[in-house]
Amino acid sequence: MESKTDALARELSRLLADPRRCLTAPAVVERLSKDFYWYSPVLKKRLEDKQADMVVQPVDVEEIRRILRFCFAHGIPVTPRGAGTGNYGQAIPLSGGVVLDLSLMDRIEAVTPDGVAICEPGVRLGVLETQARTVGWELRCYPSTIVKASVGGFLGGGSGGVGSVLNGNLRDYDTVRALEVVTMEEEPQVHFLEGQAVHDILHAWGTNGVITKIWLALAPKVDWAQCALAFDTFDAAYGFSERIANAPEWTKRLVTTFEWPIPSYFGPVRKIAPEGKHLIFFLIAQEQLNAFEREARGAGGVVTYSGHYEGLNTRPLLTDYTWNHTTLWAIKHDEAYTYLQCAFDPDSVRGQMQQLKERFGDEILFHMEFWKNAAGRMIPGAIPLVYFTTEERLNDMIAFCRGIGVFVANPHVNNVEDGGRYREDNVQLAAKRRYDPKGLLNPGKMLSFEPQVEEVARR
Ligand SMILES: Cc1cc2nc3c(=O)[nH]c(=O)nc-3n(C[C@H](O)[C@H](O)[C@H](O)COP(=O)(O)OP(=O)(O)OC[C@H]3O[C@@H](n4cnc5c(N)ncnc54)[C@H](O)[C@@H]3O)c2cc1C
Repeated sequence: MESKTDALARELSRLLADPRRCLTAPAVVERLSKDFYWYSPVLKKRLEDKQADMVVQPVDVEEIRRILRFCFAHGIPVTPRGAGTGNYGQAIPLSGGVVLDLSLMDRIEAVTPDGVAICEPGVRLGVLETQARTVGWELRCYPSTIVKASVGGFLGGGSGGVGSVLNGNLRDYDTVRALEVVTMEEEPQVHFLEGQAVHDILHAWGTNGVITKIWLALAPKVDWAQCALAFDTFDAAYGFSERIANAPEWTKRLVTTFEWPIPSYFGPVRKIAPEGKHLIFFLIAQEQLNAFEREARGAGGVVTYSGHYEGLNTRPLLTDYTWNHTTLWAIKHDEAYTYLQCAFDPDSVRGQMQQLKERFGDEILFHMEFWKNAAGRMIPGAIPLVYFTTEERLNDMIAFCRGIGVFVANPHVNNVEDGGRYREDNVQLAAKRRYDPKGLLNPGKMLSFEPQVEEVARR
């Protein structure tokens, strides 16, 4: 006899122009139900048995509307998915149902003459960056997963990355100009949101609408160079990186500082990481490279590598070792490594780092990244490596950080609110109430939401 899942899949496949885009093969469903949640030993334990019943791959808004209408009527959960590179289990369905894989919606409609990319959610950030650069523009900021990650997934679950030191994070400076979103209702609606309204949906983990089109502001293209510097002490390395990050005369897209022994984990570029030295990786304007190297030597740095940046195919590609890729190299070296996501106070960062070292020693290794906040202040951010022993010890470290004024966006939780980027004005929750009254979009990830039973009963 046909199982309930098979019967649903059969009905869903009829809603698609090509029924083969409803996938039920167990290995495929399992793979497309998972992301990089295993970065966290805590989430690894909690999420490893979670998966969808089937995956549907729509190619346009009309198919999405048909799928959502059907799932609303049958009470089936739907979890949107881009490329599944998120690392908090954001795209892992907690209650089965459908994974809505948007990777086939990958059309770039235009890059306008004034530097706005208009595209579908499944466009890979790397493809957009490469295309934008051919017409004089580039992404303002991007995750180190740029080659695989999608634009929709970056809006749904990301925050910033390479370029944030120059242009701020994704949610600042009107970088997301507008978006189109489809609602999860009896009759799914298509809304166009612009200006402040985009914040209803950004970083809501796909819990309050399916993003189907994006207007993303770009930055003028710069001819970049890559440069690696080594310093004898972490203090000297951090000091130089902080000075360059804060100096507007240096045009930079990346300033990443690693405490030794982190660079020893970077297998393919180990030769540019001298034993025992603390390293900084930069993307700096090519036209400033010579002057920059002089400046670095004057500060006691040794240039261990420099070269022209030729785009994402450049080898070595230094960004492959920065942002959350640093953690990946460390985990490859020793599975006990995990990480935190912190923002230090620019006025007391050194004292805060010292307190952390005094308390935790080499249990925490500093990996610093900078971003310009919405007020224009340069924030010394960090994605420090943490040598994991127990969840209690990890929570102690988080509490200690918070106690000394270091902000922590906790990457070991699986809900929007506790992750640290939930908006205090509750606009994401308000949008969920409007656009997903039954709570069927990525259920369980927005804890403050209660399904609106009365409203549903009235329909
Ligand atoms: C090695 C590594 C490095 C990373 N570095 C960074 C970094 O530097 N900066 C950073 O911000 N992140 C980083 N990340 C996290 C992640 O790669 C990025 O946030 C990436 O942009 C997510 O894109 P994705 O397509 O993989 O999204 P997914 O993982 O597929 O989805 C992310 C979230 O968005 C939702 N979503 C996806 N598409 C849609 C849509 N169309 N509509 C509504 N919701 C949607 C999903 O439901 C999910 O909740 C890193 C992760 C790894 C593993």
